[in-house]
Amino acid sequence: MIAVEEALHIVLKERFALTETETLPLQQALNRNLAKAIQSPINLPSYRLSSMDGFALCTHDFQEYQLKGEVKAGDNQNPDLQPGECVRIFTGAVVPDSADAVVMQEKIKQEGNTITVDLPIYQGQNIREVGSQVKKGAFPLEKGQVLQASGLAFLRSLGISEVEVIRVPRVRIILTGNELISPDEPLTRGKIYESNSVLLQIALEQQGIQPQLISFSEDSIEATTSVLENALQTADVVLVSGGISVGDYDFVKAALGNLKVETLFYKVRQRPGKPLYFGKKENAFVFALPGNPASTLSCFYVYVLPLLARLKGGQSKGLLRVKLPLAHAFQSDEPRALFLKALVKERAVQILDYQHSSMLVSFAKANALVYIPEKSGAFSEGDFVETLLLPNTILT
Ligand code: AMP
Ligand code: MG
Repeated sequence: MIAVEEALHIVLKERFALTETETLPLQQALNRNLAKAIQSPINLPSYRLSSMDGFALCTHDFQEYQLKGEVKAGDNQNPDLQPGECVRIFTGAVVPDSADAVVMQEKIKQEGNTITVDLPIYQGQNIREVGSQVKKGAFPLEKGQVLQASGLAFLRSLGISEVEVIRVPRVRIILTGNELISPDEPLTRGKIYESNSVLLQIALEQQGIQPQLISFSEDSIEATTSVLENALQTADVVLVSGGISVGDYDFVKAALGNLKVETLFYKVRQRPGKPLYFGKKENAFVFALPGNPASTLSCFYVYVLPLLARLKGGQSKGLLRVKLPLAHAFQSDEPRALFLKALVKERAVQILDYQHSSMLVSFAKANALVYIPEKSGAFSEGDFVETLLLPNTILT
């Protein structure tokens, strides 16, 4: 059994990124990582633009200016102003070549066609110069950059409509357990509605990854070995749910042994998720996640996510970790490290009730996991604790 930090270190040390790339329309590239640096085909902005509604001045040594018309956003005229002349201008409109400053409309007095500017003016005031955001030929985004709405919109503002990205990992999900049934079956004695398929599928989709296949295995060594063998042939990452503990009907570890999967670690001093397994066979990785749903998701967020991010070509070490004050006192009754479902609210973090690994109810309300290192003592209200922000944090 190893410590949390050691387990994470082992995951993060596996650093090969997938090399195959594909070119996608921007709309399909959300959450994908750039296969190469982006070179800007244009200056941004391409023209000198006004950043204010106001007046574009051809400056002189006096405060009064004569109004000579207007330029609004989208216009292409270029009035030739003489010193002491100005035009009405609006945000996003091209500043005439002959103008050297823009003053905000709130800062002037207007009488007829005469504008009085009673404040110091400097060259370039309120003008967004050509290339001031990005110069033509420059590389504003590096290889590996993950693309979110902002990145995709930025590429579009450069006139780019498709982008070369690293392919996503092929992920297969294997669910084990004779007790599992789907919601369209009647709930009979001994059975439970299976939830980890949805859990893992959606958590993957949030990272821009559609699982290749979700398969099911009954609790037998033959079935488990056969499903795993099949998955290892095509997947980059196999996520197994359940069957990795030490019960008589847990066959995943033995099946992985049969298939000569190399164990990178098995069992972590943590709660939830002690029997977590991580292994590798050639280019395929296997995570066997303990089947209790809160363990499955916790292990996914802490260990699987960083591996997927690396494979996709990024540098992420997983969920963002911040130190936040506890909203209340807390004492751990457990020597293992803890990942506790928690709610970040008003700049403090509250540890939720119902922490057992079988319980998703607290996870459903959580936006963070509080990490309590092993052998921590008691915490008082206001003590800072390491908090991992879940991907949905801003939405809660
Ligand atoms: P295991 O890791 O196979 O020992 O399972 C631990 C607990 O998690 C058991 O109570 C299982 O019934 C439950 N479990 C396993 N797989 C799932 C699943 N896919 N959905 C919901 N609960 C599960
Ligand atoms: Mg089981």
